[in-house]
Amino acid sequence: MPLFGSPNIAQLEAKRDVQGLIKALASKDPAIRRAAANALAPLKDPDAVGPLAALLDDGTADVRRAAVAALAARGGFRVVEPLVRALGDGDAEVRAAAATAVYRHLMTDPDAEARRATAAALGRIRAADGVEPLIKATRDADETVRVAAVKALQAIGDMRAVLPLVLLVAREATRSRSTGQSSVAVERAASGALDALCDDRAIEPLKSALAHEDADVREAAVRRLARIDSPEAAAALAASLADGDPVIRRASARGLAEMGWQPPADVTGARYWAALREWRRCAECGPAALPLLVSSFDAVDALQQADILAALAQLDWEPEEAGSTAAHYWASRGRWDKCVEAGRPAVGALDTILRRAPRWRDRVEAANALAALDEPRGAPFYRFDLVRRALSVLDEESEDADRRGRLEGLLLDEHLFDPESEAVEFCRCGYPAGRVSQGGAPQPIPEMLGFEHSSDGVATYYCPSCDARQANLSG
Ligand SMILES: [Zn+2]
Repeated sequence: MPLFGSPNIAQLEAKRDVQGLIKALASKDPAIRRAAANALAPLKDPDAVGPLAALLDDGTADVRRAAVAALAARGGFRVVEPLVRALGDGDAEVRAAAATAVYRHLMTDPDAEARRATAAALGRIRAADGVEPLIKATRDADETVRVAAVKALQAIGDMRAVLPLVLLVAREATRSRSTGQSSVAVERAASGALDALCDDRAIEPLKSALAHEDADVREAAVRRLARIDSPEAAAALAASLADGDPVIRRASARGLAEMGWQPPADVTGARYWAALREWRRCAECGPAALPLLVSSFDAVDALQQADILAALAQLDWEPEEAGSTAAHYWASRGRWDKCVEAGRPAVGALDTILRRAPRWRDRVEAANALAALDEPRGAPFYRFDLVRRALSVLDEESEDADRRGRLEGLLLDEHLFDPESEAVEFCRCGYPAGRVSQGGAPQPIPEMLGFEHSSDGVATYYCPSCDARQANLSG
């Protein structure tokens, strides 16, 4: 190789004579120019950057390629623009050398500023080949590089970027939740890029994000799909109504609602209404709603539970297993016999009714069923046996006076009032709730009533027949 053997260049190289080598870049002989560029490469001298960059307009492809190699070896911020420009060189080999320099070396340059500038430049020239390295750069350690890479991907507009950007948004969401810190700039850039990229063409990559194991990724994909108004996007969201995570199911249903989607009256429609917690609408989708209603029961509050029980009744549910939901269901339908039949699994439901049912007649029934299950309770009745007896007298078909007499007899037997000085005070419904002495105020008879204790120990008494509040007494 006589060119490399050129004594002039070899001598300058041996002496590390940068200025001499730079001068040689202007030689008329392309072989000398190339040799000088090659010799400058390992020296990485900043003074050589400008002259080497100028050599990228050289008429000889070999010289340009040597200049590319020398600039790539130098690295750093200042070589970014010339090397990115060389990506558009007329010669395929120069382009290939420039691609290696830009995508392999500059995108991993130790100087963050060089990496950022490279990403930005690739966006500016909309380098289709830059998509993969830019996707890698969205995970760069430096935030400004990540932002530049995201913006470049937006400018290039390639759909390969959609899934990685969704992952990026989800990762920031996860980070924000677990550490309270996330990169707002990256998040904003990624959201903006997704806004720009997510049209019909993004449905496929978004669908693949819906299958991701990370719920944050699936959620981000759902939100993006909801903004694409197309039947295919709606179909993808409808499929997500069966997601294992309730947050995703709900986000999917909301997205479909925003699209004006019409839920079918089948299992998909049932899932849709269940996700929106519209239990009656859910039941309107037929028996397919049953498992959804039953499985949702334990996850919702008492008000929603009441709606679910009504929806189950709408479907004439016949529970196959004696679970807690079944017990609540039977109780809500007044089928206390079924609760007793269910046995142990019904105890929890019955206790809930005993403590919270707004109708005291239901509490009485729950106490009855618990007693039948050999689970008697000390509250909310002091003497449940008496309450039960009084109610059965009250509910008899007989004359008022006759009933009153028998109820007074019951209280007398139990020494709950003194017939010499007191009279029984009846509730509006006819239940014997209190006693009153001549000239005195009526006093409730706790043994005959239901009670609730507030946290500061004050008891409130209720008529177990009609729910009337009887009195507040310090207890
Ligand atoms: Zn009453």
